[in-house]
Amino acid sequence: MSGARKVHIRSFGCQMNVYDSHRMADTLAGEGYAETAAAGDADLIILNTCHIREKAAEKVYSELGRMRRLKEAAARDGRRIVVAVAGCVAQAEGAEIIRRAPTVDLVVGSQSFQRLPALLARVERGDAVVDTEFPVEGKFGALKAPSPQATRARGVSAFVTVQEGCDKFCTFCVVPYTRGAELSRPAAEIVAEVARLAEAGVREVTLIGQNVNAYHGVGPGGAPWTLGRLLHRVAEVPGIARLRYTTSHPGDMEASLIAAHRDLAGLMPHLHLPVQSGSDRILAAMNRRHTRAQYLRTIERLRQARPDMAFSSDFIVGFPAESEQDFGATLSLIDEVGFAGAYSFKYSARPGTPAAELDQQVAEDVKSERLQRLQRAIDRQQAAFNARCLGRSFEVLFERTGRYPGQIVGRSPYLQPVQVPGSAASIGEIGTVTITELSANSLFGSLVGKPGAPGSERGPLAGERPRRRDPMPAEPGG
Ligand code: SAM
Ligand code: SF4
Repeated sequence: MSGARKVHIRSFGCQMNVYDSHRMADTLAGEGYAETAAAGDADLIILNTCHIREKAAEKVYSELGRMRRLKEAAARDGRRIVVAVAGCVAQAEGAEIIRRAPTVDLVVGSQSFQRLPALLARVERGDAVVDTEFPVEGKFGALKAPSPQATRARGVSAFVTVQEGCDKFCTFCVVPYTRGAELSRPAAEIVAEVARLAEAGVREVTLIGQNVNAYHGVGPGGAPWTLGRLLHRVAEVPGIARLRYTTSHPGDMEASLIAAHRDLAGLMPHLHLPVQSGSDRILAAMNRRHTRAQYLRTIERLRQARPDMAFSSDFIVGFPAESEQDFGATLSLIDEVGFAGAYSFKYSARPGTPAAELDQQVAEDVKSERLQRLQRAIDRQQAAFNARCLGRSFEVLFERTGRYPGQIVGRSPYLQPVQVPGSAASIGEIGTVTITELSANSLFGSLVGKPGAPGSERGPLAGERPRRRDPMPAEPGG
């Protein structure tokens, strides 16, 4: 394919999909496609989809109705728009998507989108194409790297997928079926990708994976590396000032990873560590492979390694047979940990997963009521955590200009958006900010110095031994 064609990519769901969408755009850039934000102007529209809960999957079909209307309008002007469905709904539903939505020309699963150029060539010949294979060739090696301009346009904080898939088989979850078995990228490939990003101006990297701390990619010497070891190596890449990783399984928080929180100043003191439930009975039925006590012990060890550590989590309410007592155990775990934020969901039965077959599904109104109570508890902790930031100083990486002239927005070590008066020239810099005001979703402050200048601290909780039941600084969820 050649010429200035346009592609519009819309990502649903998790950060892994955002990363995949970028890599699709990079691969298509090599085929002459430029990205456009306007779906109606595009020659190719890709919906990169999420299958994790029923609502997420159904959203795709309502979006496809809109795509059909755009496609018909373009056809009246003599233009063709190709509509592709990629990602986890594509993987799970395959040809069924085209049956339900004949406007779709191409269905490409989450493991085969490196084949997009060849698949599009088949669509051009007039075929409706479905590819949901798990090919043996390496996906990441086959994808094109972003240009420095594309990297700069995506900002100073970037995601890098280091691991994909999952072997845990939690009984509620579709990921092992849609993303396949755990696969870790070789360490050298990841380090080279981070170095390229840093050369284009990226200052913060978040290593991502469905189960990122199960990372066991091959190191340069041929032996597998842990995520702890990989973080040490990535921290050495010139220009990279901050590191994060997500999403972690509590059962894979091994010693070298916990030690990395003690030893790497650039590893941010904020961890998203999903627990799902505080009841051992429900954790066992979910096949989570850890108990409540083991989770609490892991939190304790992380706080010992880095006292200013803050946590966020994921919760599912209304898993089959969850009693009021089980739910009470979840609320008491929240109270015991003191979270900075959390994502919480009503259990959604997913076809093909073991939990969907269980008796004693919980009634919808009970789920809704429990979700509200849980969210109120988390909101209180998050607000208390933010309130503790008032008057404190910490380092902020400036990422973009604000809504108002003369304002820039960055992220605290705890992922909170922080707004300060400042110039666009500071984007990509890290400055010390004193927090002077709070709103529901943001902190406001003033720049008091560059890192290392007087007044700079390691974080809002530097030097403190956080008390239990005392919420720590915050994230809006993971
Ligand atoms: N691998 C991560 C872990 O083990 O915690 C989570 C990955 S999953 C993409 C993100 C979150 O979606 C989960 O932590 C869980 O809370 C939620 N989730 C997954 N399946 C669900 C379901 N069937 N119903 C409701 N929430 C679900
Ligand atoms: Fe899903 Fe996470 Fe469990 Fe894997 S560990 S099955 S991704 S919830």
